[in-house]
Amino acid sequence: MTAQIIDGKALAEELRQGFKARVEALTAKGHKPGLVVILVGADPASEVYVRNKVNGCLAIGMHSEKITYDAAVNPEIVLKKIAELNADPNIHGILVQLPLPRHFDEEAVLEAIAAEKDVDGFHAENVGALAQGNPRFIPCTPYGVMKMFEKGNVDLTGKEAVVIGRSNIVGKPMALLLINAGATVTVCNSRTKDLKFHTRRADILVAAVGKPKFVTGDMVKPGAVVIDVGINRLPDGKLCGDVDFASCLEVAGQITPVPGGVGPMTITMLLANTIEAAERKAALAD
Ligand code: NAP
Repeated sequence: MTAQIIDGKALAEELRQGFKARVEALTAKGHKPGLVVILVGADPASEVYVRNKVNGCLAIGMHSEKITYDAAVNPEIVLKKIAELNADPNIHGILVQLPLPRHFDEEAVLEAIAAEKDVDGFHAENVGALAQGNPRFIPCTPYGVMKMFEKGNVDLTGKEAVVIGRSNIVGKPMALLLINAGATVTVCNSRTKDLKFHTRRADILVAAVGKPKFVTGDMVKPGAVVIDVGINRLPDGKLCGDVDFASCLEVAGQITPVPGGVGPMTITMLLANTIEAAERKAALAD
C-alpha cells in the first residue's frame, strides 16, 4: 500500500488565494488587516520564519511589519512596544517570534499581548477558550493540521488519535482540537513507556517531536493518517520531518511530506487569524 500524500503547499496556496477577497473588502472599509512580528535576537531560523510571515501578509494585500531588537534588549522595552501596538487601531495581530532570549519571561510577554490581537493563540485567555471547546484564536500549526483533515475529508469522530509531543505550541493545542472534534486522544511525551504500543493503534498519528525520522513504518497502523509537524535540518543542510517518510509511505493511508506539508499551512493560518481579527474589529466598528 502506498499512502496518499496530503499536499500542504497546494492547500495553503488555495486558501491564500481565497483570503484576498476578504482582505480587499476589509481594506475598502478602512480596516486593512495589519500584522506586526517582533523578533528579538538574530537566530537565522527565526529570521527566515519572520520574513516568510511578513511576506505572506504582503502577498495578499495585508499590512505587515517586522520590529527587531538586539538579543540583549531590556524586556521592558519590548513590553512597552507591545502596549503601544495593543493600542494601535491599524494593527490587528501581534506576534512575538519564539524562542526569546533567556533573560525574558516568555509567559509574561505572551500575556502582555491583547487577547484580541493574539493571532498565535498563545495567550492564556485564548488557550482557555480552546480548552473549553469554544476557540477564539487557534494556534497556527495545529489549526493548519485541522484544515488538512478537513480538506482530506478525514472524519475524526470516534477515531484513535495519538499525538507525540506535548508542547504548548503544537502538541497540547493539537490534542485539544482532536478532543473537540470527537477523537479519542492519547498524548505521548519523552517519558512514555512503549511508544510503539500507542502509535500502532493510532488511526490518526501526529508527530511533533523535533527528532529527524523518529517515526518509522513499523510504528504506524496500516492505513493511518500520518501528520508530520517536525522541521529538522540534517547535517547536509536538507530539511526533514519527524517521520521517516519512505518507510511510513508504504504503511500509511495518508501522509504529509516535509517540506510541503504542515509548514506552509502554519503561515497560512496566521494570515487567517489576522484577517479574522480585523473582521471582528470591523464588525464592532460597524
Ligand atoms: P518541543 O517543544 O521540543 O516538544 C517536543 C515534544 O516531543 C516534547 O513534548 C517531548 O517530550 C516530546 N518528545 C521528545 N522526545 C520524545 C520521545 N523519544 N518520545 C516521545 N516524545 C518525545 O517541540 P515543538 O515546539 O512542539 O516542535 C516539534 C517539532 O515541530 C519541531 O521539529 C519543530 O521544529 C516543529 N515545528 C514545526 C512547525 C511548522 O510550522 N511545521 C511549527 C512549530 C514547530 P517532553 O515534553 O517529555 O520533553
